[in-house]
Amino acid sequence: MTTVDMPGRHAPIRPLDPALAAKVAAGEVIERPASVVKELLENSIDAGATRVSVELEEGGQRLIRVRDDGHGIAADEAELAFGSHATSKMAALHDLQDMRTLGFRGEALPSIAAVAEVELATCAAGAPRGAVVHARGVRVTRGAPRGLPPGTTVTVRDLFAAVPARLKFLKSRAGEVAAAQTVVAHYALAYPHLRLSLYSDGRPIFSAPGTGRVADVVASLYGAEVAARMLPLEGEHRDTRVWGLCSPPDVNRPSRTYQSFFVNGRWVRNRMLGIALEEAYHTHLMVGRHPLCVLHISVPPELLDVNVHPTKSEIRFLYDREVFSAVRNAVGAAVLSTMPEPGKTLSGISVATETEAMEQGLLDLAPGGEEGSATATRANGDGDAAGPTARSRPDMLPLLRVLGQASSLYIIAEGGEGLYMVDQHAAHERIIFDDLMAVAADRPIDAQFLLEPECIELSAAQFAALEECMDDLAPLGFAVEPFGTAAALVRAVPSVLSGGGADPHDVLRELLEGRAVKGEVADWRERSLTTIACKSAVKAGQALSMEEMRQLIYRLERTARPRTCPHGRPTMILLSASQLEREFGRRG
Ligand code: ADP
Ligand code: MG
Repeated sequence: MTTVDMPGRHAPIRPLDPALAAKVAAGEVIERPASVVKELLENSIDAGATRVSVELEEGGQRLIRVRDDGHGIAADEAELAFGSHATSKMAALHDLQDMRTLGFRGEALPSIAAVAEVELATCAAGAPRGAVVHARGVRVTRGAPRGLPPGTTVTVRDLFAAVPARLKFLKSRAGEVAAAQTVVAHYALAYPHLRLSLYSDGRPIFSAPGTGRVADVVASLYGAEVAARMLPLEGEHRDTRVWGLCSPPDVNRPSRTYQSFFVNGRWVRNRMLGIALEEAYHTHLMVGRHPLCVLHISVPPELLDVNVHPTKSEIRFLYDREVFSAVRNAVGAAVLSTMPEPGKTLSGISVATETEAMEQGLLDLAPGGEEGSATATRANGDGDAAGPTARSRPDMLPLLRVLGQASSLYIIAEGGEGLYMVDQHAAHERIIFDDLMAVAADRPIDAQFLLEPECIELSAAQFAALEECMDDLAPLGFAVEPFGTAAALVRAVPSVLSGGGADPHDVLRELLEGRAVKGEVADWRERSLTTIACKSAVKAGQALSMEEMRQLIYRLERTARPRTCPHGRPTMILLSASQLEREFGRRG
């Protein structure tokens, strides 16, 4: 083996050239044009702005300009803003425990100047003249004072021109504009009072009206239809307050891009929050579909660490579990409100009415919930003829009249809103699952004892699972015990299985499989009930009489979540009256 002479091995240790050091530090905060937009926008919000415009040229690489009408900076302090760790937002270190502004590190402006040319034009409210400061690298120069409108305009030119390595990582212009738009959109959602607009190469590409109502921002981002369906929510759990909007289960998307979380007013990414949200939709959503939300979480600043990441987009909660419960319960209550009993509350969490939420811009909600039914009626638009309260909840079915069966698979029915095609298997699954869950809550589900115990063979994994979960099987209607080393004696099976076409023994093997493979004991019982429901339900291809179909629809109407099966797949499709009219050319 030869030794390699390391180049520079004997080089003396020297401090980094300040300009270079600044560039290195900047790399942590400023990754792309969108990071500049984020930092400048946060500064404008911290400055109490009510109007902010963001302009980009060439995807922000050539120019980014953020103009606000905030309180500005005193002319003789403007230069200081570019000093490293210079901030007006934190007087002493203990303030870090008590962060209420978005910025506090005093790093943004110097970081941007390290990798671009920056011009800051600012005028404090009431000041006769404003100041203009130029900064590039560590060089800061101040122009002569001049008359300026109150507020601050920061212009950033030629981003990364001197950092070719960074330039290489930038996406296409369109990609950078999209990233900046995401940032702007999130601040618009978080601060609905802000009149916020984004321009790219002179063209307006997004604007938030600044009405103070989150729903208006949601409408401009996701469409008026979605905005009208969103459910207001509010809840409190110990030190955590949660409020905002979430979608009813039938309004969903294939990705989580439409979920926005704000912690103490700051847009954050946090896995736990996403999981807490989706927990509340458990069994109401199809696998691979995700709800939409605009959720604010407020916790006492001392229970939060925002200083985990330079861009402050990652955070840590001191009491993760409390926050988890707070989010899940508040969202759960809102989701529940779409189910039959109006104005239901869950462990002290109340659902705010839409009116209250809107009037107060969702920023300062008073607890309430008695008027829960009014919410749904409004959210549902026209409200159907069957009655204004329970029936108009988005998840409820109108009264359906069965017309017939198609393909031995779909029940065709007619209701107030149009034609419904109901998947007979999925619908029956939902009915059985709800029944089983209701029973299993306080006693074993009904079992049918066999005249003579039957012996069935098991795989090694199934046998091992059986030895472990024998006691858990009894409440599910199975009386089973291990037999020898690779078999089981079955004495009873769930009664509900006897009507369906499935072999109860196969179902038992599947439950054991589920226990063995997933190793997840926590939701095994519920998964097992889902399997039992699925195996007991009428199959596709089975012809049903009118009476059977009426019975099925009647029972489906009485379930809590008639529109999805326990796996989260839809039980029905609605061809709305207006859709039919359009298709037949009866209406323009
Ligand atoms: P931080 O926001 O962490 O304090 P910055 O480098 O972003 O650090 O800004 C430094 C200081 O410049 C801020 O503390 C604030 O006093 C001032 N400043 C920056 N942008 C604005 C603005 N748009 N309006 C008023 N003051 C601003
Ligand atoms: Mg800042």
